[in-house]
Amino acid sequence: MEKYFNPDFTIRSKPVLCAGALLAVVLIFIAFHTWSSFITRRAGETIVISSGTISGSLDDTLKQRGLPDPERYQISKAYSKLLDLRRLRPEDEYAVALSTSARFKYMVITKDLKEYCVFSSTDAVYRAYVQNVTISSNVARVTGSISSSLWESMSSQGVPPDVILDYADVFSWSVDFLTEVRGGDKYDMVYEYSVAPNGKVVSKKILAAVYNGAETGRKIAGLWGKGYYDENAGSVRSLFLRAPLHYRRISSFFTYKRFHPILKYVRPHLGIDYAAPSGTPVSAVADGTVIYAGWKGGNGKLIILRHGAGYISTYGHLSRFARGISGGRRVSQGDLIGYVGTTGLSSGPHLDFRVKQNDKPLNFLKIKYRSSGGLSGKDKASYLGGLKTLLPEYFK
Ligand SMILES: [Zn+2]
Repeated sequence: MEKYFNPDFTIRSKPVLCAGALLAVVLIFIAFHTWSSFITRRAGETIVISSGTISGSLDDTLKQRGLPDPERYQISKAYSKLLDLRRLRPEDEYAVALSTSARFKYMVITKDLKEYCVFSSTDAVYRAYVQNVTISSNVARVTGSISSSLWESMSSQGVPPDVILDYADVFSWSVDFLTEVRGGDKYDMVYEYSVAPNGKVVSKKILAAVYNGAETGRKIAGLWGKGYYDENAGSVRSLFLRAPLHYRRISSFFTYKRFHPILKYVRPHLGIDYAAPSGTPVSAVADGTVIYAGWKGGNGKLIILRHGAGYISTYGHLSRFARGISGGRRVSQGDLIGYVGTTGLSSGPHLDFRVKQNDKPLNFLKIKYRSSGGLSGKDKASYLGGLKTLLPEYFK
């Protein structure tokens, strides 16, 4: 028993007790510290900003963020002084800042390159203002050589899809990027694009472009005003598009993923046969009038267009006509007129395309590219000066 009350025990028990007390103090301290830091954050108001796109109405969006009725009402009321809330679209972006106590701090809706802001001040008054989105402008130059297709080559260099289509548009009177591209062809392009703070490209335009192909020769284009001109300041536009299968239209037919703009053409007769999947959109190569749209023997479904200067163009074996295409209808260059098919005497889906002048069949691809109009005088000098600055290598 004495051993039980061994003073050693007592002596040893003191530090144990002390250690226990210390642990308790530490635990309390940790608990208190956690609690106090929570308090501190609340006092300093931790603000959580969440963003997304407007789903449903503004009210729905705020409701999803857990804002109570009176607050949602105040926010909508403040906004309605700046913008028509019925004009909000699901793609319009917003950011909303709430404090951890779920109190509304501010909201920004970005629409049409403007930021609409509503914030609540300490006196719980909701104020609104609008400001322009900060846009940064960039100029990029991209050069490359093609191994399989223009699309693949340019997109692998990070050229946005819209800019690739614009590039094809610039040359749509002189180069058929679906059939005339050859491995090793070179391209060069200077383009300007603007980016909003969210990284979205809000505008883009090609300032200068070059295509140098084995099949096509070298083509140069530069922007002046709203049009493009060549290295002699002649317009790049001409009476005919280079092909009735238009690059831009084709790209919306194929999805970007499947986009495979390598089509073939053969010339078994005085026209051109473009092999393309059924349903591929067919465009008018020039402004004109539909003089025939119907079934015609071995041609199957056929469209005949009459253009100026005694020219006609014909599009055979179509699967169907575009809406509204019938005799007498006026069409503009590039308009959708029908879809590739295999109607009539045809062994597979293809477009039978022919051009005649005064009833005489023409070799369409050999029709001399003739510029329709151009720049002169001071405009010509300024344009050429600018083009040489953008593409000095081509003007040595
Ligand atoms: Zn044919």
